[in-house]
Amino acid sequence: MDVADCAQRSEGWLLKAGIDSYRINNTDINETIECIDCEEIIPAARRKAAPGCERCIDCQEVYEKGQR
Ligand SMILES: [Zn+2]
Repeated sequence: MDVADCAQRSEGWLLKAGIDSYRINNTDINETIECIDCEEIIPAARRKAAPGCERCIDCQEVYEKGQR
């Protein structure tokens, strides 16, 4: 029982440490950035997929369509 408790505790500690280092490594991704067209928050997943993007997915589509 004691061994299991100890293992659980160290797992929790590792998980917390992992989350902390993830946050530190992704500071720019966790930053709140708004779409320059509709001012909606651009989801972190989109910014990760398209670094430096300034528009949300909807506005990006409209923008790209307008360019053709
Ligand atoms: Zn938008």
